Amino acid sequence: MINRALIEQISNRVAGGPGHDVFGVSTDSRSNLKGQLFIPLIGERFDGHDFLEMAIKNGATSCLWQDDHPLPDVDCGTCTFYIVTDTLTALQDLAKRYLQTLDAMVIGITGSNGKTSTKDLVGAVVKQKGPTHITKGNYNNHIGLPLTILSAQPDTAFLVLEMGMSNFHEIECLSKIAEPDIAIITNIGESHIEFLKTREGIRDAKLEILEGLKVGGWFIYDGDEPLLVNDYPYEVATVSLKKSGTVNVEVVEMDLTATTFKERAHPQLFKVPFVGKHHAKNAMYAVIVGRLLGLTDRAIANAFTLIEKTGMRFEQETYREHLLINDAYNASPTSMIGAISILKDLSDTRKKVLVLGDMFELGDDSVAYHREVGVAIASPIDYLITVGKDARYISEAALVTATHVETNTEAAQLLKSWQEPSVILFKASRGMRFEEIIIQIKQ
Ligand code: ATP
Ligand code: MG
Repeated sequence: MINRALIEQISNRVAGGPGHDVFGVSTDSRSNLKGQLFIPLIGERFDGHDFLEMAIKNGATSCLWQDDHPLPDVDCGTCTFYIVTDTLTALQDLAKRYLQTLDAMVIGITGSNGKTSTKDLVGAVVKQKGPTHITKGNYNNHIGLPLTILSAQPDTAFLVLEMGMSNFHEIECLSKIAEPDIAIITNIGESHIEFLKTREGIRDAKLEILEGLKVGGWFIYDGDEPLLVNDYPYEVATVSLKKSGTVNVEVVEMDLTATTFKERAHPQLFKVPFVGKHHAKNAMYAVIVGRLLGLTDRAIANAFTLIEKTGMRFEQETYREHLLINDAYNASPTSMIGAISILKDLSDTRKKVLVLGDMFELGDDSVAYHREVGVAIASPIDYLITVGKDARYISEAALVTATHVETNTEAAQLLKSWQEPSVILFKASRGMRFEEIIIQIKQ
């Protein structure tokens, strides 16, 4: 429930109906808006204000209204209009104010890779201590994050927020809305380097999470990343696979369903249903958060058995004698090299085949980044197929037999004629629509 007085605080004036407390907030006029506040946003192609009638038909009892739009002269029943200067800023402002009415600890998570995984891991842990609200799917931007906050129940004790970005000042905006008690930077990669120019630029954009971090808050980050080495005016913990963190992680076992790890010199084993060394680090961030909340390592290990994973990451299915692994939710050089090393380390008697596609938004150095991925592809990988434009350079640099094709259909045809029982890993940027290849192979 969001109090009408709170909505009045962010508005310049109120018109229409008598004013209502609301049971939720939505920017989508097509959703069930019963008893809700409709927030019309202005996008590149659509203006939400044009969909007011639909929103009211779907049950909206209140709406924000940007003051450069004339009030509608249709019958709006008892719908209350809260007139604001800018509906997007008002959404963010409302989220910030609503959050301040909650007695919730906020954990903000950013980084080039591993935000969603870490958010699910941290969520599973803090849930042991009280009612927890977690970013759904990928609702991690300047609209998704405030909507996530506004959908938290009043009794929320922990709010776990994924913070995504593609340019400077975006994480700053999100962090200032959420004012985290704990900020996590999972890693610094190359995603969005097209806009941020250098890895230092990416680092600076991620560090904007500190702009909203509360005084006395904790900053937990990747201890293997030299670009993050610095003195920060916060309590700090770092996680490293290379013995250079305040907490050092050791991978004990990894198969196609899980990764088991421990902190060096500590006996407790932790097992998470994610595959890859990097997930041991992501999970260690969650262990640190759990310890800060007073949970025992045993309770944290147990919490990991209850994790609810967000879909489309390392999904596996058996097809004929093959194992198909779909990790094509997204791709960057770091996450692709991570996936390649998982396949290399896998103890499986079948052949190891990689199907890799273009990685988007890598800017002027895109060709070099694709080549860098190619260099990582060597025995025991048996065969490589690349698809797209710049992925050609992965094939060129690879140290194994490779075929480059232009389309998903051609890749599917190649794989259909591939007879040897294999573990086949698919990875590319989301826009390559690699799930099409898997569908076509099975047809
Ligand atoms: P997005 O930017 O799409 O929201 P994300 O940061 O939420 O991505 P995930 O969805 O958790 O990241 O994982 C994306 C990919 O990155 C997966 O392939 C995963 O295996 C890989 N990955 C996860 N954590 C790390 C890490 N710490 N270092 C390198 N790669 C990682
Ligand atoms: Mg994500």
